[in-house]
Order: sequence, then structure tokens, then C-alpha cells
Amino acid sequence: MTALGMAAVRAMESKRADRLFDDPQAQLFLDAMPGAFDQYFTSDTKSLGAMFAAHGAIRTRFFDDFLLGAGCRQVVLLAAGLDTRAFRLDWPAGVHLFELDVPDVLAFKEPVLAHHEPRCVRITVPADLRTDWPTRLIAAGFSPTTPTAWLAEGLLIYLAATEATNLLQAITEKLSPGCKLAFEHSQADQLRTRASAMPSMHDFTEMWKSDSDQDFVAWLVGHGWAPEIHKEVSYGRSGYSGQFVTAEFTQNAN
Ligand code: SAM
Repeated sequence: MTALGMAAVRAMESKRADRLFDDPQAQLFLDAMPGAFDQYFTSDTKSLGAMFAAHGAIRTRFFDDFLLGAGCRQVVLLAAGLDTRAFRLDWPAGVHLFELDVPDVLAFKEPVLAHHEPRCVRITVPADLRTDWPTRLIAAGFSPTTPTAWLAEGLLIYLAATEATNLLQAITEKLSPGCKLAFEHSQADQLRTRASAMPSMHDFTEMWKSDSDQDFVAWLVGHGWAPEIHKEVSYGRSGYSGQFVTAEFTQNAN
């Protein structure tokens, strides 16, 4: 449902004249599960919905730019959900893009995209990111010696601090210099306070486990990464902005 929520945000954004990106496949996921969100559209979620929509659009565009700008021939989307970047971004030749998510999400996603051609070599890897996913990733053809752009979009909020640190550790153990990483700089506490007051949001807020990702930035600094925090990213959308972390791996600190 959280992945479908992002598809809803991207389908809405794609209809705007001033859209920040175009995601033509997002609507197909919604069509495959009609009425999925009806129970969540209540009067109390309207303002929160607008905030999620604006934030989702800004973050999608920010990470589109990050991935294309990273200049890496290998891309890993951790918790890819219903992300269609393999299909909609103008990748340079030779890019191998790996999508990881839980098996149920990928099982829903693949038939919807069956007749669409990716614009890179796309490899899906069903895996729970709290388990030994690196073994599966490598078995699927991932090369640990190739500079890689890693994206953890919309994921860390669903992981407890130890699970998130284990994830970062697993990424860092397999890296060579030149790898890049991006994720949202959490506004989880602020979101939780607003959303917890809305009974219709409980299905979602119950899944949020993270406290704050300030520690992740410190963790990265201590493990060979050079992180940068991007604040007030808005692409001109008044009233809304996002905060993101990008990082470049500069040395093998392990
Ligand atoms: N990154 C995608 C995007 O922005 O469209 C999906 C974001 S969605 C909010 C969160 C995703 O995290 C879901 O697809 C969910 O299945 C995935 N996820 C959460 N916990 C996970 C775990 N332990 N292992 C793998 N995927 C997980």
C-alpha cells in the first residue's frame, strides 16, 4: 500500500502542466487495484494527503536528478516499490539497474509492466532488506567492484535504527570508491505527530519505526562516506520542501 501510495502521487503529478517528471506507468498500478485507497480518503487526511503529494513529487524529481547525475553504470534501488525509473529515465548505454523489494510487491509489479520495455538492463531481486539481501543481489549479477548509485527512497522510516544501520553497513562493506547513495533526511517525527492524530492513517503510521536519521549522517561520516544534506528543496512549489541526503563513498574504512 505504501508503494501504491507513491504511484498515486506520481500519477497525479504526471497530470500537472507544471509536472516535475512524467511517470506514465504509475496510473497502471492504480488501475490494477481499483479503490485501494478509498478507505483512507477522509476529510481529516486531506491536508496530509496534499503534503505527501507535494513531498513525493519533489523527492521523486530530486532522486531522478541524483541517479542520472551520479554517472554510475550500476544502480541499486533499495525498496523499489512501484518505481518505474528503469522505464522512464534516459539512462546512458550499459546501465544495469537492480530493484529490490519484498516478493509480494514485485509479484504485483511485474505483470503490470510486462509489455513495457525498460531503458536499461533491469534486474528484480525479491528480498527482505532486514535479511541477507547482499547475497541475493550478487547472485543476481551485481558487481561489487563497479561504482554504483544506491537509492533508499521511502525506506528508512520503515526500519528500526539497528535495521537501518545494518543496511548501511551491508552497503558499505561491498563498496569501492566512487559509489553514491541518497535517501530522505527524515521528517519522520514531524510527520508522525501529524499523522498519528488521524485514525485513518493508523495502518501506515503503525509501520513507521525510525526515530531520526541524524545519526545516519554521522554514521556515514564515520564509515568512509562524505554526506551532504540538501535542505529546502522545492523546485518552486510554494509551501512545500524536502530534505535529502546524498553521499559519496571516498575510502574503504572497513
Ligand atoms: N522507493 C519506492 C518509491 O519511492 O516509490 C517505494 C517506497 S514505499 C513508501 C516503501 C517500500 O519499502 C515498499 O515498497 C515496501 O515493500 C518496501 N519495504 C519496506 N520494508 C522493507 C523490507 N524490510 N525489505 C524490502 N522492502 C521493504
